[in-house]
Amino acid sequence: MPSTHDLIVLGAGSGGLATAFRAARHGARVALLEPGELGGTCVNVGCVPKKAMWFAAQMADAQQLARSYGFDVEPGPLDWPAFVARRQGYIDGIHASYRKRLDEAGIEVVPAHGRFENEQAVVVDGRRLQAPHIVIATGAHSRQLDVPGFELGIDSDGFFDLQACPRRVAVIGGGYIATELAGVLHALGAEVDVLARSHLLRGFDAELTEALAQSMREQGIGVHGHCQARGLRRDEQGLRVDCGAAADVANKTYDSVLWAVGRVPNSSDLGLDEVGVARDADGHVQVDAMQDTTVPGIHAIGDVTARPALTPVAIAAGRQLAERLFGGRDDAHLDYDNIPSVVFSHPPLASVGLDEDSARERHGDDVRCYHSRFRPMQLALADIQRKALMKLVCVGDEERVVGVHMLGPGVDEMVQGFAVAVKMGARKADFDATVAVHPTAAEELVLMG
Ligand code: FAD
Ligand code: NDP
Repeated sequence: MPSTHDLIVLGAGSGGLATAFRAARHGARVALLEPGELGGTCVNVGCVPKKAMWFAAQMADAQQLARSYGFDVEPGPLDWPAFVARRQGYIDGIHASYRKRLDEAGIEVVPAHGRFENEQAVVVDGRRLQAPHIVIATGAHSRQLDVPGFELGIDSDGFFDLQACPRRVAVIGGGYIATELAGVLHALGAEVDVLARSHLLRGFDAELTEALAQSMREQGIGVHGHCQARGLRRDEQGLRVDCGAAADVANKTYDSVLWAVGRVPNSSDLGLDEVGVARDADGHVQVDAMQDTTVPGIHAIGDVTARPALTPVAIAAGRQLAERLFGGRDDAHLDYDNIPSVVFSHPPLASVGLDEDSARERHGDDVRCYHSRFRPMQLALADIQRKALMKLVCVGDEERVVGVHMLGPGVDEMVQGFAVAVKMGARKADFDATVAVHPTAAEELVLMG
């Protein structure tokens, strides 16, 4: 059977859309398969609604600050259903914009699941599509644990379905989602306990994650490490988490329990084993540096692979792949080094490059760290004692900056520019030679002794 398309993309999330748009720009005939909403996780149940809730939470914090500054205001609760409708209106706008752009680009959108029939063909809704290149961009979903009462809790999708702020919440997990949603729920009025099986944000710089845990505790969030949830049960007082007798939460009850224990790739019902596409033990599609799977002509990008599960990563990998396949750039591929990332916690935590422990593992005694711990001015004015922390990780005699890590108000917007400097190989001396912007928190990064 001749090809129906030049490219078939499974999944219209961050990665799939970016791949399809870039390939179509180079003249490829593209079919884009998506059974759900355009935009995938990020737009519908990830970054976008999360950031909306984070902005709302920032507003709640700002009301408290305003009062301390002397404004005659009584902080009030969020009209949660009205804000959810506003949030959804914003997302509907993104859907409409995608629909228009897909139409203009001549991309055929097929609103259904795809499954491989062979290396070059996908079956969708009883129709057979064929192309020399197929991209798997099917993303991931929340991990479920095989423990009693798991179904009594909700996951992040369930969080976005909430129509009111629960009064008492246990958040199980210690990663991005647990940390972010715990901060949002607390700022919006809930009593929150975070129950992590190890500690918060394993993999980030330990000094910062400890400082974040301390800051969350100071704000009134219960942060409990080394707490492995073994199940949930409901009684007349609410939900109880079985975390072992030693945990402080053993006698507490909750109105809602949020599971945030990682995500699992959507790779099990695609027919991958039949066509010979290899997956790792966790179900991630195995890819090489060029995003090629073990089968020629089949590629994979984004959360379905074991690469960092971030929207800009999926987008960048998809664009590079389309450039290589259809744009004549034979060596185009994403450089996965020095990817910046922000945890939208309260306060936010931003990071690019190596944390201190990883730097020491790689470079031993050649590592030197610089710190600044200070009270941000907007908090000091309100007599709030909480500190911000900034840290540079440098390597070698020339003190190349291999890591920039920040915790405090505003660092979410600071890190992008510093990521450029790290990517370019800046040295500590380059930071020192840059004149500060005053009065800001960012200036601390160029004023470290
Ligand atoms: P997805 O966006 O998940 O898209 C995959 C698509 O494939 C889905 O639409 C799905 O319906 C479709 N699909 C599945 N199976 C098939 C099939 N058989 N055929 C066709 N289509 C199929 N990242 C950030 O960078 N910043 C953030 O602030 C951030 N916040 C997040 C908050 C939450 C709560 C979550 C859950 C994630 C967050 N992320 C964030 C991560 C980000 O959402 C993902 O990294 C990103 O969406 C991955 O894009 P993707 O294209 O790989 O997959
Ligand atoms: P993470 O990988 O960040 O964290 C998973 C958490 O679940 C860890 O604390 C982990 O503990 C814990 N965990 C894993 N398995 C179990 C288990 N069996 N029992 C108890 N706890 C367990 O995943 P998230 O789900 O929070 O987020 C998924 C991904 O989405 C992130 O990795 C990130 O890439 C992306 N994301 C990005 C955001 C952003 O950019 N701001 C925001 C939200 C998500 P341990 O550390 O001990 O392994």
